[in-house]
Formats: sequence, C-alpha cells, structure tokens
Amino acid sequence: MKDFSYLRATSVDEARRAAALPNAMLLAGGTTLLDLAKCGVAEPDKVIDITHLGGLSAVRVDAQGASIGALAKMSRVADDPAIRAHFPAVSEALSQGASVQIRNMATIGGNLLQRTRCAYFRDPAVFPACNKRAPGTGCSAIGGVTRNHAVLGTSEACIATYPGDLAVALVAFDAVVHLGHRQIAAEDFFLLPGATPHREHALEPGEMITAISIPASAVSRRSTYLKVRDRQSYEFAAASAAVGIAFEPDGRTIRDVRVALGGVATKPWRARAVENALRGKSLDRQAVRSASLLTLEGAVYHGGNRYKIDLAPRVVARALLQVGETA
Ligand code: FAD
Ligand code: SF4
Repeated sequence: MKDFSYLRATSVDEARRAAALPNAMLLAGGTTLLDLAKCGVAEPDKVIDITHLGGLSAVRVDAQGASIGALAKMSRVADDPAIRAHFPAVSEALSQGASVQIRNMATIGGNLLQRTRCAYFRDPAVFPACNKRAPGTGCSAIGGVTRNHAVLGTSEACIATYPGDLAVALVAFDAVVHLGHRQIAAEDFFLLPGATPHREHALEPGEMITAISIPASAVSRRSTYLKVRDRQSYEFAAASAAVGIAFEPDGRTIRDVRVALGGVATKPWRARAVENALRGKSLDRQAVRSASLLTLEGAVYHGGNRYKIDLAPRVVARALLQVGETA
C-alpha cells in the first residue's frame, strides 16, 4: 500500500477544503477505502478522517420523511424502528448488505460511494486494462468472465455493475443526496459509464455527502427489498429489486408503484416502464408477470451474464407479489 498523510478533520469545512486537494480521499468506516488501497486501486496521497465529525450521524423520521446523516452506520439505520416502519425496503436493503461486522463499521455516505466488484477492476497487477481504473486502457471484462456484470446501462467502455443495495431503495423512493451547499436526486447522483466510466457519481472535488433524505409516501410504507444471490449471506446481488405499492381505497387497484433494480445495471436502475404498466391495474399474477417482462427493456448481455435477463423479471414479479400479499 502506498504511503499517505493523515488528517483528522475537526469540521465539515476543513474536511471539504482538504478533500479538494489533488489525490485526497475521505475516510469514513474505511471498509471500502482500505480494501481498495490494499489492492492498489486507490492510491491517495492524503486521507481525511471524517469519522469524528459531530452532527452527521443522526437518523430522524417525521411526517415529511426521513433524514439520515452521512456518518450513520448501516446497522444503526437498518435497525431504527421508524425506518423499519416507514421505509421497510431501506431497512431490508441495509440489513442484507455485507456482514454484521461490516455493517457496524460502514456508513451511509461510504455505502453510496462503494465501487464495483468487477474482478478486473480490483486486480491492477494482473489486468492493467480497465477504463474505469485507468481511462483509455480498454476493458478486460468484455470477452472475459462476465457472470457478475451488468446488462443495463452498459457502454463499449465498461460493463461493470453498481454493487450496492441501499442506493437501489433510495432511487425507488425518490431520495435526495445532500452535500450541504447543494442537493441531488439519488437517481441523478449516479452516472452511466458512457465513454467516461471513471466518473461514477456527481460529486466534484471538495464535495462531501452530509445526509440523505427520503420523502414520506404510501409506496415507501408498503415496500420491500428482495435480493437474490449465490449464497444467502455476505454476498452481492445477482439481481435485486426495491418495490413499493400504494392501492386505491378499493384495496385492489394500484394507485402508485415503484420498482428499482440492483445487481443488473451499471447504476441503481429505476424501472419506469414496469411502473407505468402497472399503475391503474389490479395486482394480479397476470398483470405482474407481463409488466415485469418490461424490466429488461434495452438489456444487452455479454456471455456469462445472460442469465440475468431471465432472472431480473422474476425477482421483480416476486417482490411485487410479496408486497401485494401484505395489502
Ligand atoms: P469508506 O470505505 O470509508 O469510504 C468509501 C468511499 O466513500 C471512499 O471513496 C470515501 O472517500 C468515500 N466517502 C465516505 N464517506 C463519504 C462522504 N460522507 N462524502 C463523500 N465521500 C465519502 N455493500 C452492499 O451494499 N451490499 C453488500 O452485499 C456488500 N457486501 C460487502 C462485502 C464485503 C466483503 C465488503 C468489504 C463490503 C461489502 N459491501 C456491501 C460494501 C460496504 O457496504 C461498504 O464497504 C461500506 O458501506 C462503505 O462504507 P464506509 O463508511 O466503510 O466507507
Ligand atoms: Fe474496468 Fe469496467 Fe471493464 Fe470492469 S467492466 S474491467 S470496471 S472497464
């Protein structure tokens, strides 16, 4: 691991100023940054420790919605009774991520900014070609082992999957990422790879996440996060879905519905075609099945990830029916 200097920030302003310097990186729980430094992907000259900053760990839920500080731990948010009651998909997404030990260390801000698990990206010594890590060098995954790669939002430059769970639920329920001086819709916060896969999010140098907010809604109250993976714990999603449904007073007709996908796309993926197909319909198996097939509109597979094109619509359908059954 390369040597770096260490600064323990005493205020958000100090952290921002230091983070604006070339090759400086913020340190929160450290569960992603240290991994990446050890495998030679992250080589910061300066590490700015923000773990002790006050006022960034609070979790508040009121009639308007939730506000969650960037330094709140994953486990703390997952177990918060008000988050579980009003945003079950958010709680479920967090509690199905990583392991107990990691969730006790890892923060909400760091979780959003975790980086892809593309094996080629994380092994610079063996695979120097990676447009995300070293722009312009090519993509080792295309033509390689692609079982975990994306089928939606890909480009000729990169097919890496966004690996996180929380962000999928945030995109489904119109969450907002707060940077102090400005805020960005969670859906716009994450960028498509296009020709610049090294740019993964909308943060500029010297910016930091201070909080996220999620508006209160009937769809977020009746919601779930379904994660399908190779093993039942300590594994990233092969395909996942955050869904929520609000019914008309008749208890059958869908007034509002949200669907977002994880594990299959280069960023947390809102499936608006599925939502549009279901609004105004009754939640029966036939409607759910045909709407779910719209999940993968525009999908492109590369060898070993073809199975995701079959899997993702089934995950969406199962999640929708699960939520419907609780109605
Ligand atoms: P750090 O490692 O401290 O930081 C991560 C990045 O975010 C760094 O670039 C840092 O500079 C930046 N950063 C941190 N805080 C801020 C901020 N406030 N503003 C701006 N930049 C900031 N995640 C899942 O969702 N699902 C999983 O199934 C899952 N499985 C995992 C399995 C393993 C073995 C491991 C190691 C991780 C797994 N993760 C999973 C990822 C894990 O959730 C993240 O490592 C964790 O959330 C990162 O949070 P952190 O506070 O430790 O971030
Ligand atoms: Fe790099 Fe993206 Fe290709 Fe993986 S898929 S090797 S991250 S360019």
